[in-house]
Amino acid sequence: MKIGFIGLGIMGKPMSKNLVKAGYELVVFDFNKAAVDELAAMGAKAAASGAEVAKECETIITMLPNSPHVRSAALGANGIAEGAKPGTVIIDMSSIDPVESKKISEELAAKGIELMDAPVSGGEPKAIDGTLSVMVGGNKATFDKYYDLLMVMAGSVVYVGEIGSGNIAKLANQMIVAINIAAVSEALTFAKKAGASPELVYQAIRGGLAGSTVLDAKAPMMLSRNFKPGFRIELHIKDLTNALNAAHSINAFAPLTAQLMEIMQTLKADGCEKDDHSAIAKYYEKLSKVTIEG
Ligand code: NAD
Repeated sequence: MKIGFIGLGIMGKPMSKNLVKAGYELVVFDFNKAAVDELAAMGAKAAASGAEVAKECETIITMLPNSPHVRSAALGANGIAEGAKPGTVIIDMSSIDPVESKKISEELAAKGIELMDAPVSGGEPKAIDGTLSVMVGGNKATFDKYYDLLMVMAGSVVYVGEIGSGNIAKLANQMIVAINIAAVSEALTFAKKAGASPELVYQAIRGGLAGSTVLDAKAPMMLSRNFKPGFRIELHIKDLTNALNAAHSINAFAPLTAQLMEIMQTLKADGCEKDDHSAIAKYYEKLSKVTIEG
């Protein structure tokens, strides 16, 4: 099966590489030519635009930063819709606003193009391992058709419901992750300030009820002061913006998410927006006047 892949960033690059390794014929596009060349060196075909990808592929995966990028890649100048045949399916694996997923899907449907929203959780390490968690919204029959393709990049692929549902699940995920990283930061700066070794506290608690995937992924980064992304704070701000907009529009109550938004905005104002979101620890460190490291 020939697959188009648009967006070869931190996530899209390893995901597309896994598809090539699994034997899929790929046609790829990104504004970043170095990323396209890297995939081409593995046997993928380089395209010069989304329209060019769509001329060759009836199934196209997008992995882009946010809603405006997906809208532009799908419906903008030289975008997918300009080259696509009716019946083309776009699987958008970006994390975007679920309301926009629905709108883009309606505009694409008028051109005979179907959209599924299939955002992922797991970050770069799981993108490399091919063990992402994928949460999917859209037509169930289309989901069934593409399940095996998605499983090449994933450890789990779950159908959540109609278009937009994948991104609703992803926003729920991002609320939980942000609040958890803050909890880890708060606890480890507390431990340090109280005179215990944050490393030993982490080792002591990781097997108990406080243990979590977030703790195991992010505490070691905080302990070694490695804030290289991973998942950038600016992208998490994007997700929390989408989450709070969605929550406010339906009168859902999200005070902890709002608090995390303010913490991340403070970090952005401090110049940390390109850091991994484990740098939430820096907010606590600055106020507590201790570092978790060592
Ligand atoms: P990234 O910024 O590293 O990559 C995005 C890529 O899209 C870039 O290479 C950029 O050049 C390209 N791009 C942007 N607009 C384009 C367009 N119109 N046409 C072609 N290419 C275009 O971002 P990322 O970290 O790979 O994240 C991608 C998505 O996955 C985001 O929605 C993010 O929230 C989500 N996500 C990221 C992580 C993570 O840990 N990085 C984890 C889960 C989900």
